[in-house]
Amino acid sequence: MATAAVVGSGPNGLAAAIRLAQEGLDVTVLERADRPGGGTHTSELTLPGLLHDDCAAIHPTGVASPFLDSLGLDRFGLRWLWPEVDLAHPLDDGRAGVLSRDMGRTTASLGRDGARWRRVFGPLADRFDKIGEDVFRPVLHLPRHPVAFARFGAGVLPPATWAARLWRDEPARALFTGVAAHVFGRLDTPLSGSVGMMLTAAGHAVGWPVAEGGTYAITTAMVRLLESLGGTVRTGVMVTGLAELPELLGTEPDLVLLDTAPHAAARIAGDRLPPRVRRALTRYRHGPAAHKVDYAIDGDVPWTNDDCRRASTLHLGGGAREIARVEAAAARGTMPERPFVLVGQQYLADPSRSANGANPLYAYAHVPHGHTGDATEAVTAQIERFAPGFRTRILAVHSRTAPQLAAYNPNYVGGDIAGGANHARQLVFRPRPATDPYSLGAPGLYLCSAATPPGAGVHGMCGVRAAESALAHLESAGRTPAPVRH
Ligand SMILES: Cc1cc2nc3c(=O)[nH]c(=O)nc-3n(C[C@H](O)[C@H](O)[C@H](O)COP(=O)(O)OP(=O)(O)OC[C@H]3O[C@@H](n4cnc5c(N)ncnc54)[C@H](O)[C@@H]3O)c2cc1C
Repeated sequence: MATAAVVGSGPNGLAAAIRLAQEGLDVTVLERADRPGGGTHTSELTLPGLLHDDCAAIHPTGVASPFLDSLGLDRFGLRWLWPEVDLAHPLDDGRAGVLSRDMGRTTASLGRDGARWRRVFGPLADRFDKIGEDVFRPVLHLPRHPVAFARFGAGVLPPATWAARLWRDEPARALFTGVAAHVFGRLDTPLSGSVGMMLTAAGHAVGWPVAEGGTYAITTAMVRLLESLGGTVRTGVMVTGLAELPELLGTEPDLVLLDTAPHAAARIAGDRLPPRVRRALTRYRHGPAAHKVDYAIDGDVPWTNDDCRRASTLHLGGGAREIARVEAAAARGTMPERPFVLVGQQYLADPSRSANGANPLYAYAHVPHGHTGDATEAVTAQIERFAPGFRTRILAVHSRTAPQLAAYNPNYVGGDIAGGANHARQLVFRPRPATDPYSLGAPGLYLCSAATPPGAGVHGMCGVRAAESALAHLESAGRTPAPVRH
């Protein structure tokens, strides 16, 4: 039986391991932390009984992922829960743009831009199952659904700031720009609207759900499935070089998949890498960072806008121009006074996360790469801006600066939670220009983290694609049957 080692147990590492185990490989996942999951952890960070998502919280890519969907993770305890409002973007004048699976609810919030919003996103949402098959792949590929993908492609090429000009009024402009800001960088460069188009279409098609009991439920379900297929996860094992693997596994693995940042992959693989690949991995760029803040609050946030009181995700940053300006500042290394902030009220969809009248509130700000300052006050002030009186509801606070996020998980280099800078070149060629972006150029060696296509998010598709590339290698060496492709 062929053997595989997967280094790192984030959603991509676990997806890769499951895919290999499905083909009958003997798979061991090695994880440095004391529990598996990487970006999919949930912890009691503030008060006893309150469940906070340490990293990923909202799961449009999780529920849309063709691979996660194929696994039947509900058999292993995963349940998606949807809020009444998927996303709200409040403005200073009390209005808010609303993203909802119910297109009518969105268009009603957007006034005179509602009809155009429906014309742009309605067809993308209707064909999202087809578009999804293409967006969860490397950007340069032969589309499976050329017509649907071409329509989507026309929207993703221009900068987000151009796309925002499709709308005449601020609720629609700000709503789109806030979603686009998930690209974590400048919004006036080509392809910067791509993430916004995808996540908005996903919002209308499948919503932005949360996982019951916390994001860690995704990890638990994936680990249980992997174990049912004969795979193993070992925690507390930091891999620093390939030479350690035979002793750790009791055999030389046929395949090694690294769920790590590219720089770390270059260190671990060392001389096994061709010099051109090592050079490319060490030149890989990381982008702006996050500063994470978790609050325990008494009751609810007193949002001025009613839709905000029902939304599990909120984007705070005011109008489209302000967001583009602060994102550009963070990208060039300047900490904005009023950074773009994402807030999560997961407890609205999932009351099991609350305890004793207190609720867990999730937030993070976009800050410069490696920013060492404490942005907690800036995050609190942004919430207070749209919810006067918020400060009086705070019972406890837990913060992680960008360097603390990097210490928590080495894949968040400099606090970059997007797996690498999302400028146009790295959006297209990730982690390097290559026909097989997962291969590390040495037999049996692959990168499977969010630094590979299709990039950040809890969807497991980087892991699956890397595993399929690895299986194709085994197949060509006459070691396994031809894999079924996802
Ligand atoms: C604050 C924050 C908010 C986010 N919000 C969302 C969200 O709402 N929705 C969403 O979809 N995504 C979100 N993300 C992004 C998402 O979490 C990541 O894109 C995703 O987890 C990437 O998965 P991965 O498997 O590539 O890497 P990771 O999840 O980072 O896992 C990598 C794992 O490898 C381990 N590892 C690294 N090096 C070694 C080594 N040498 N030896 C052993 N183990 C090693 C690490 O400890 C880690 O467990 C967020 C991330 C953060 C930090």
